[in-house]
Amino acid sequence: MRAFACPACAAFTPFEADRCAACRTPVGLHLPTTSMVALDGDAVRVDGQRWIRCTQAETLQCNWLVPDEHVDAGQRGRCLADSLIRREPDAADTVAREKLVPTTAALRRLVFQLLDIGLPVEPYFRRTGGLAFDLLSSFSEDRPVTIGHADGVITIDLVESLDAYRESLRVRLGEPYRTMLGHFRHEVGHYYQNVLVETGPGAQRHLTECRALFGDERAGYGEAIDRHYRFGAPADWQDTFISEYATMHPWEDFAECFAHYLHITDTLDTAREAGMVLHADRVRFRAPRDVTPSPCYDDASVHRLLDDWAWIALFFNRVNTAMGKPPLYPFTIPPPVADKLDFVHRVIREER
Ligand SMILES: [Zn+2]
Ligand SMILES: [Zn+2]
Repeated sequence: MRAFACPACAAFTPFEADRCAACRTPVGLHLPTTSMVALDGDAVRVDGQRWIRCTQAETLQCNWLVPDEHVDAGQRGRCLADSLIRREPDAADTVAREKLVPTTAALRRLVFQLLDIGLPVEPYFRRTGGLAFDLLSSFSEDRPVTIGHADGVITIDLVESLDAYRESLRVRLGEPYRTMLGHFRHEVGHYYQNVLVETGPGAQRHLTECRALFGDERAGYGEAIDRHYRFGAPADWQDTFISEYATMHPWEDFAECFAHYLHITDTLDTAREAGMVLHADRVRFRAPRDVTPSPCYDDASVHRLLDDWAWIALFFNRVNTAMGKPPLYPFTIPPPVADKLDFVHRVIREER
């Protein structure tokens, strides 16, 4: 994630800020320039165009700006991220709506990164099968909300934004990591597998390689779920998979790898934006080289990216344990998973 600066005083400004913490200048996120801009009253002019706050500024604490003379009715005066929400709890359901705030904060992070790495974000109201989010609460609907993806529509259970609920599920399922942002990154992986690998212009070529790496996605999905929840992951799953869940079905393996690609690249980029570098001659232990996270690993192989990540993750894991928390990135990447991440890396790079 980018480390933004206040346009008035240059103080560090977090991604979610609507006001500079140092000088109190009202700010908003201007997507075309990926920068924080200062608002004069309730608007700002950028490149001759008037920009105002997203209509969800109050209700969802959104700090994104939208062009004043917005013509796309489907967007409803919302920023791109919030306009992707197709279904959300009714205004009267205040308990569920409270959970929308942290959930949409994760959604905006997701959308910003997707655009930042050059992936197409085509909303459902512009194209059939385009990206949509149904953000619903298991506590409000007649039946449990199942997190998942189908034909561009990603469903998220808002109840998962409750720490105690999500943590109890995490422990019950034996997962080392479970977050809202992680759910978004995983589910959007299903969407991009369909858009970039299964149906895009490179589909024929990609699909053959994808099946060789992840397995044949035409394998029965229902039986795969039954098998996974009855018998669990194979004993040696860590040799070839990033997580136990990834063993369930080739689609889940791809989505898990896609999510990890987004975890890794965003965290590396956050370190780079903070100016973090590992100087090999300044540490007590043997480090083979200086590690300088790159702004974009476009020209590098995934192995360079993963090697940089191995070093940065090592320290972030130690930082977390210094605070008495579990490691930040509690995963190991065996060579077959590196090959899968390489595939994700190349498919995304080609799209850009
Ligand atoms: Zn400031
Ligand atoms: Zn918004």
